[in-house]
Amino acid sequence: MIFNCLTIFPEMFSGFTGTSLCEKAISRALIEINTVNFRDYTEDKHNRVDAYPFGGGAGMLLMPQPLFSCFSALDERYAGKKTRSVYMSPAGRVLTQSKAAELAEYEVVNILCGHYEGVDQRVLDHLIDEEISIGDYVLTGGELPAMVLMDCIMRYVPGVLSNDESLSEESFSGGLLEYPQYTRPFSFQGMEVPEVLLSGHHKNIASWQREQALLKTLLCRPELLKDAELTGEDMKILERLKNKLDIPIEL
Ligand code: SAM
Repeated sequence: MIFNCLTIFPEMFSGFTGTSLCEKAISRALIEINTVNFRDYTEDKHNRVDAYPFGGGAGMLLMPQPLFSCFSALDERYAGKKTRSVYMSPAGRVLTQSKAAELAEYEVVNILCGHYEGVDQRVLDHLIDEEISIGDYVLTGGELPAMVLMDCIMRYVPGVLSNDESLSEESFSGGLLEYPQYTRPFSFQGMEVPEVLLSGHHKNIASWQREQALLKTLLCRPELLKDAELTGEDMKILERLKNKLDIPIEL
């Protein structure tokens, strides 16, 4: 899978691409991350990529010409590949796990990182398939959001995670948050690991983990429950937890 990050700050990506899972995925040729400095495509004699917005308003906007030229070069280079072009934007749909899984199906994902006050609307209308936000707050540029998006997508690329379980049991898979987990030692400063986890009884462990995932979701993100994949047994557990904890939520 190929990511092309269109940015005027390519140096921001070096820590990300040179570390941990991402570095491994790149060195094993499972993913490719290219930073493309669209300033290289400007026809402006002063190398400018931004200008004042027509009609006034604060700050500068990225101009269309360098971006149209840059996307055109990418289109030519990756012609025939299944491609999606995304603009990182606080005005986009907020990133979810299912959106990341959906984007992992593409061979090429172009990610436009905005800066200043954003981008000329013609770029969004003609070059971008969708706008994605990483949350309801405003950052200085799209580079950090692009790294968040790539990190999330690459976990779906076969071979990137060593153990397929890690995806299927994580928070948001199946719509619930992940259950609490413990490691050694069994007893730490008087705090003990729940006995059931040491019982070796797989069925009891699985039931405990399911109940804990339901409890955690109920307490921390109850709005997720309405779209979660819940069984009849899950609904009974939730009713019991709600009554026990006196949580007035309609499921
Ligand atoms: N004027 C823009 C607005 O109000 O929507 C904000 C521009 S912001 C200062 C500069 C760039 O940072 C944006 O073009 C976008 O690429 C990126 N950005 C900022 N916040 C973001 C967020 N929550 N999610 C994704 N990208 C973001």
